Amino acid sequence: MRVLAVANQKGGVGKTTTTVNLAASLVHFGKRVLLVDLDPQGNATMGSGIDKAHLKHSVYTLLIDESTVRQTLQSSETGKYDLLPACRDLGGAEVELVGVEHRESRLKTALAELATEYDYVLIDCPPALNLLTLNGLVAADAVMIPMQCEYYALEGLTDLVNTLKRIKQSLNRKIEIEGLLRTMFDPRSTLSQQVSDQLVKHFTSKLYHTVIPRNIRLAEAPSYGRPILAYDKASKGAQAYLQLAEELLARHNAQEVAIA
Ligand code: ATP
Ligand code: MG
Repeated sequence: MRVLAVANQKGGVGKTTTTVNLAASLVHFGKRVLLVDLDPQGNATMGSGIDKAHLKHSVYTLLIDESTVRQTLQSSETGKYDLLPACRDLGGAEVELVGVEHRESRLKTALAELATEYDYVLIDCPPALNLLTLNGLVAADAVMIPMQCEYYALEGLTDLVNTLKRIKQSLNRKIEIEGLLRTMFDPRSTLSQQVSDQLVKHFTSKLYHTVIPRNIRLAEAPSYGRPILAYDKASKGAQAYLQLAEELLARHNAQEVAIA
């Protein structure tokens, strides 16, 4: 099982879109996938076709020990992956967990139970470096960082990298940056191109070759509770996320061969 946290404390950069569509794309390639929605906004939950308003159990009840991981699991019919869903209550977890021992590793503990059941776990983090994101980063083997190719794309990246360094020194020695992903790319925009060039210069090997274009179909799909593959498979957005899944799988296969 490989656990990837999709994180960037900047809002609206494509974290949820990436988590949902990469999950469905990995399923397309035959992988067993679990999506964890760590954001009280519950966007990944709704985008997977699960109504966050009618949840008996959620990541919130899981983190505060009021449900087991198995009670909390749901399956997304539109994405064909499993899901630990989120709802607004999750916003209160931070306060509830104050004073609780090992509060930053509760998700990690919960996921350990499922280690043999999934190939990939994708965690959609909220736009903040708070206790919820920390739970995601402690549970993860690696972080995927979506970056919008716009002004200030790099702003905040230093904070995230410093947070990762601190986590690596203390709570999670194995954490690494899996890759940076360019999202909402507009090939006709000079700015998009300039920011992209800047990212290539700074992050060469950590940057995915795959670039996610700005594509209206990607923005429409969540309102139907569907990943793009179940909404418009022929769209540029769907093709880009399939390509990202392929790139990710190829990288991991190469790493495994190198280790063996
Ligand atoms: P938050 O920080 O609020 O959790 P986020 O980083 O998860 O946001 P998303 O919700 O994935 O970002 O995307 C922000 C908005 O941009 C959404 O309305 C989404 O539908 C839209 N969007 C994301 N990626 C694309 C894309 N490639 N093309 C067009 N629209 C996109
Ligand atoms: Mg989001």
